[in-house]
Amino acid sequence: MKSNNSPIKEVIIIGAGAAGLMCAIEAAKRGRSVLVLEHNSAVGKKIRISGGGRCNFTNIHTKPDNYLSLNEHFAKSALARFTPEDFVAIINKYKIPYHEKKLGQLFCDESSQNIIDLLKKECGLYKAQILLECRVTEITKNKFFHLTTTQGEFQCESLVIATGGLSIPTLGVTDLGYKVAEQFDIKINPCRPGLVPLTFKEKDVQIFKELSGVALDTIVSFGKISFRENTLFTHKGLSGPAVLQISSYWEPRKPIHINFVPEKDMASVLKSHQAEKITLRNFLKDYLPSRLTEILCLRFFENKPLHDYSLERLEKIGKELNGWEFIPQGTEGYAKAEVTVGGIDTNELSSKTMESKRVPGLYFIGEIVDVTGHLGGFNFQWAWGSGFAAGQYA
Ligand SMILES: Cc1cc2nc3c(=O)[nH]c(=O)nc-3n(C[C@H](O)[C@H](O)[C@H](O)COP(=O)(O)OP(=O)(O)OC[C@H]3O[C@@H](n4cnc5c(N)ncnc54)[C@H](O)[C@@H]3O)c2cc1C
Repeated sequence: MKSNNSPIKEVIIIGAGAAGLMCAIEAAKRGRSVLVLEHNSAVGKKIRISGGGRCNFTNIHTKPDNYLSLNEHFAKSALARFTPEDFVAIINKYKIPYHEKKLGQLFCDESSQNIIDLLKKECGLYKAQILLECRVTEITKNKFFHLTTTQGEFQCESLVIATGGLSIPTLGVTDLGYKVAEQFDIKINPCRPGLVPLTFKEKDVQIFKELSGVALDTIVSFGKISFRENTLFTHKGLSGPAVLQISSYWEPRKPIHINFVPEKDMASVLKSHQAEKITLRNFLKDYLPSRLTEILCLRFFENKPLHDYSLERLEKIGKELNGWEFIPQGTEGYAKAEVTVGGIDTNELSSKTMESKRVPGLYFIGEIVDVTGHLGGFNFQWAWGSGFAAGQYA
């Protein structure tokens, strides 16, 4: 039997990351008694390492299209009720210097710690309590939720699961949130690493590994989805923003296509120079990084004067340059992923409150939910938005 005299809070939030802290602030603003349980020795460890230490805390162009989910409509409500401007207003309140790096991505000028300090200050201001190094070992529910933890027993009316995803296991990631869902028969959509470098098959490693460090402007596509940004060759495969973006969509054993020369129709360009004596390698150096040109000519295209290639061959080479096919071996996994794609099935939750339809009083917010943002500040915006939404009701 559980003891009934453990402290009762109106709201307990498990996980002091971006979503959990935002929810804590909002619920506490409404006068709710709020306790955040965090098993790490500090809050917001992912915030600290995010954006290369400068936290890309939102994106001013946030739209529902910037998110993957089995239910593409789910995120709309929360995103509309807490916008990037709303978060920027908090940033301005604390006079945190920031800048737009590119494509609407807002970064701290100084350090991600600014964001963590802001969230801690807001929690303090509204008297949301945070308990560190507190691991939850068991959850039961009768009238209240009853939590057994390494720091004693707690009870609450509303329980908010904000335990994040599975990426970067060294930051103290746990699957507690998924286990809670299973315990209460809440459906979880299959999870996989997202925003993650892709790896080459062995034959491609042998061909392309010398290009490690080469980056170029590309369009990377998977089926009908495409992103135009840099691709970076690594010693294991491909990375860079365009590849990270497409990785969230990529399905095993299927190809991705990379347009190495997005501005030009290379088949037309090559064919229009077919009468010339310049070698293919020298010709392509005007369009591609020279190391890439060398590997492609050495391994695939040969290196002859253009007039020695047939028009059909030049057409084929051009098409390949505008749509090189790679079938990745896999990804670099959760160890290198920025996010977890998949998670709590959104059909289980109210899009207005983030509350479980099956278990009244139980809420899921942030990355654990099957809503995954593109690269560029969208994941934090979802954490703030879903945390804000739950904070109005929990
Ligand atoms: C390297 C890296 C860089 C990133 N950069 C950006 C960026 O610049 N912009 C962007 O938008 N997104 C970025 N992301 C993604 C972003 O960090 C996450 O989407 C976001 O932190 C999710 O917020 P969350 O609150 O749901 O989860 P988290 O921030 O992961 O917080 C979950 C919290 O729950 C705690 N917890 C877990 N299990 C338990 C348990 N059993 N008991 C108690 N506490 C528990 C964790 O310790 C953690 O504090 C980055 C991710 C990584 C890995």
